[in-house]
Amino acid sequence: MEQKQRLLSKLPKVDQTLQDQRLFGFFEDMPRELIVESVREIIAEERENILQAEEPELSFCEEDFFQKIADRIRQKNRRSLIKVVNATGVVLHTNLGRAGLSSAACENVMEIAKGYSNLEYNVKKGARGSRHSHVEKLICKITGAEAAMVVNNNAAATMLCLSAIAEGKEVIVSRGELVEIGGSFRIPDIMARSGAKLIEVGTTNKTKPADYRNAISEETAAIMKVHTSNYRIVGFTAEADLQELTALGKEAKLPVIYDMGSGLLMDLSHYGIHEPTVGESLKTGIDVILFSGDKLMGGPQAGIIAGKTSLINKMKSHPLARVVRIDKMTLAALEATCRAYLDKDKAREEIPTLRMLTQDLASMKTRGEELKTLLGDAKLFTCQVVEATEQVGGGSAPTAELAGIAVKITSQVPAEKIERFLRKNEVPVIARIIKDAVHFDMRTVSDEELPVIADAMAAMERAMGGPGR
Ligand SMILES: *Cc1c(COP(=O)(O)O)cnc(C)c1O
Repeated sequence: MEQKQRLLSKLPKVDQTLQDQRLFGFFEDMPRELIVESVREIIAEERENILQAEEPELSFCEEDFFQKIADRIRQKNRRSLIKVVNATGVVLHTNLGRAGLSSAACENVMEIAKGYSNLEYNVKKGARGSRHSHVEKLICKITGAEAAMVVNNNAAATMLCLSAIAEGKEVIVSRGELVEIGGSFRIPDIMARSGAKLIEVGTTNKTKPADYRNAISEETAAIMKVHTSNYRIVGFTAEADLQELTALGKEAKLPVIYDMGSGLLMDLSHYGIHEPTVGESLKTGIDVILFSGDKLMGGPQAGIIAGKTSLINKMKSHPLARVVRIDKMTLAALEATCRAYLDKDKAREEIPTLRMLTQDLASMKTRGEELKTLLGDAKLFTCQVVEATEQVGGGSAPTAELAGIAVKITSQVPAEKIERFLRKNEVPVIARIIKDAVHFDMRTVSDEELPVIADAMAAMERAMGGPGR
C-alpha cells in the first residue's frame, strides 16, 4: 500500500506534463485540446494501473510515460477514413469501398470540389440548368437509352423509381428474385417503403411468363425484374427473361423495370465474367433499368436510372428526387467515368475495376515476384508465388472464379497473428488467410503498394522478435 502511495505521488501533474519539452513539437501542428486530452487520459490510466496492480512496478519510467502520451496524441490525430491496401483479391470489396476511381475521375472531382461550377447553371443561356444534364447524354450514348438520370445509389434509384411509377399500386416480382443485397437492402422492404404493393409470383426456383400474366389486375402499375446479382439459383429452374417480360409489358401496357445491380457496360465474358450488359438489356425494349455506379461500372457510388423519357421525367419531377439527389463531387467523378467508356479499350485501361478484372496472369505473376524480392530474406517466414482463385465481389457475378496470383506466406507465427498485425499497420494491409497461411492477392494490389506490404512485413518481423530488415 505504501509502495502504491509512493508511486502515485510520483505521477506527474497535467500542467507540469504539458510544459515538458518532449511535447513541444506537438503544439505546432496539432490541436491543443487533443494534447491535453491525451495527457489526462494517460495520467488517469497510469493511476489506475498502479491501483489495480498486485505488485506495482518499483519505479516510474518517465520515458515510457511520454512515449505513451505521444502515441496517444498521434492516434487521436489520425483520420478515421484512411487508405488501406486490399490484398484480398476481391475487386469490388464492399467493406473496402467497392470501386476505386480512374485518375481522370479523381482530377475532375478535385477541380469541381474546390470551387464553383455550372452544376445547375446553363452558361449559354445564363439561366438555371439541370444537374442531370452533365451526364444524361453520355449515359444515353454508352447504353443506348432514350433518357437517364442519376441519384445517390442504386437503392435510392429503386426507391425513387417505384415511388414515381407505382405508389399506391401493385408491382409484380418473381419469388426467385426477392433479393437481399446486404446491410438492410431487401427488395420487399424497399417496395413497402416506396408505397408500392409487392405481388409475388412463381416459386423460388421457377417463375414463368404466365405467372406474371395471371397476376396482372386493374391495380398493377409495373412488372419488375431483379437481377440475382449476389446468388444464383441452379438446378431445376425457370425464369422469365427480359424479352418475355417486355412482350408481356407491351401487351398489358405496363412498364417493365429491371433492377440490374451491377451495371456492366462492356462485355467481359472473355475474362470469365458472365453478366448481362446494360446495353443488351436495354435492347430488349425494357422500360427502365437501374444500376450502381460503383460496381462493375467502376465509378463513384451512384444510382443510374436509364430508359423511356416519359418515365424518367416522372422520376425527375418526383419530390423524392431531391431527397436522393447526387452531389457535385460524385457527378464530376461519374462524368469522367462515363467519358472513358466512349472508347472501350481506354475504359479497360483507365478504370481500375475493369483493369483489375481483366489483367492477365503474367502481369500479376510479375508483381508477385517483385513482392517476393522486396520481402527478401526473412527469418520468420518464407514466401512463394502461387496460383489463387479470386472473386469479383460487391454482389456481382457471384459464381465467377477468376484465376489469379498470390504471394503465400509460410511462417511459424500463426497466420491470424500476422493478419492482425498487418491490419494495424499505419496503412492497414488487408490480407486473406487460406489454410492457415496469409496470402497477398496480386489482382487488387498496385505496384506502388508493394513496398507498403514489404515494410509492414518487416515491421512484423521486428515486432515478433525476428531481425527485420
Ligand atoms: C447492389 C444492388 C443494389 C443496391 O445498390 P447500391 O448502389 O449499393 O445502393 C440494388 N439491387 C441490386 C440487384 C444490387 O445488386
